[in-house]
Formats: sequence, C-alpha cells, structure tokens
Amino acid sequence: SIAGSEDSVVVIGLGRFGGAVAESLMRLGHEVLGVDSNAERVQKWADRLTHVVQADSTDIDALKQLGLKHVQHAVVGIGSDIEASVLTVLALEEIGVDDIWAKATGLRHGQILERIGAHHVVHPEAAMGERVAHLVTGKMMDFMEFEDGFAIAKTTAPEESLDMTLSESNLRQKYGITVVGVKRRHADFIYAQADTYIEPGDILVISGPTKLVETFANLV
Ligand code: ADP
Repeated sequence: SIAGSEDSVVVIGLGRFGGAVAESLMRLGHEVLGVDSNAERVQKWADRLTHVVQADSTDIDALKQLGLKHVQHAVVGIGSDIEASVLTVLALEEIGVDDIWAKATGLRHGQILERIGAHHVVHPEAAMGERVAHLVTGKMMDFMEFEDGFAIAKTTAPEESLDMTLSESNLRQKYGITVVGVKRRHADFIYAQADTYIEPGDILVISGPTKLVETFANLV
C-alpha cells in the first residue's frame, strides 16, 4: 500500500483530467494510487502509476479498504457524472482525507463540492477558456492569473520601449506593471534590470494587477 508514504496522492477518475494529473504527479516523483470503476481505464493506467485499483469511489467501504485514511492528498477527476463526483468527495471527507481536490464541470457543481468538504475546487474548462480568450484577443503569448487579481503574462515589447533601457522607458511608472524578464531570440532568458536594453522582437515577461497587465499587453 502507498498509504502513509510521504506525499502520496490518490487520483479518483482516470479520464482526461484525472489521467493528466496522475501522469504529472508521477513525473514529479510522487506515489500515485489511481482509482477508476472502468476496467479498461484501469488497464490503460496499470503500468503507468504506482498502483491502480478498480473500485466504485462512491462506496465508502471500498475506499476505506484502500487505506485512503492515510493518503496526504486526493484528487477527484470525475466530471460528467455529478452524482458520483459529489458522493466521492463526501466519502473522502467522511474518511478524513486532509486535502481534497475536485474537478467541477460548472459553477453550481463547484459550489456543491465546496459545501460538502472539498478543500480545492478546480474548473479546468473555465480556467483554460479564460486563458485562451486572453491569448486570442490580445498580443499575449502566455497568461496566468492568480486568485488575488494579480497576473503574469508574456508579450512582445511595445514600440515605446524599444532601443532603450527599461529605466528609460519607465514602464512601471507609466503602466503599473513590472518587467520580470526578457527573452531575446537565440539568447537565454534574463532577469530584467534597470539597465536591461530592449530591442525590437524582444519578448517581455511582465507581472502586475490583471487589468494593468491586460492594458500593457495590448499596446503596440
Ligand atoms: P474527463 O472529461 O476528464 O475525461 P470524465 O468525467 O469523462 O472526465 O471521466 C471520469 C472518469 O471517472 C472515468 O474514467 C470514469 O470511469 C471514472 N468514474 C466515474 N464514476 C466513477 C466512480 N463512481 N468510481 C470510480 N471512477 C468513476
């Protein structure tokens, strides 16, 4: 049993989301117990995770038998079957798992999961949709927002910052964002400093309040 070993994670529901989570956790060096009620899914993941078990996760006794009381984290990747998702989170909560993560397919689903004891609810489709919207409509090449309205983005250097140093273009004063790093073609990424010289084609990694990051990334 992987139960009790340091940083063991149970991933319940090995669909696209759960499978991706489980695979990444393995790559990061964690012990991963995969659980799915579907025999083909179990078969598919059998050789790729520390352990894979076929079980119905809505059955609290089945979960108890797996020793889930002692795992550090649980990730519930069941999405389309909301009843199964809810009953699984409830069972994990009753068993006393300390850190329960669950995928929600919609806002109300997410609210239910929070009410019944999920410690973290993720909305992968909504989050990715928002991110893609930023990439499609703006000049951003990458975008990530934190919970507190703070964002990091990758964008091309605007015209007004070219052929001068960062202190000369004074972007922080003018736009309220901070240039964190600069990537020039065929060169390594460098941390931005006051005397960093910006050339046409340079890519900037910027951070700041989301609204200001959006405004800055749309400058030409
Ligand atoms: P995705 O969109 O990420 O593929 P799905 O909701 O389609 O998510 O997949 C969920 C996975 O969870 C499937 O592999 C399914 O067999 C599994 N699953 C659904 N209900 C249960 C359950 N009660 N117990 C265990 N696994 C389940």
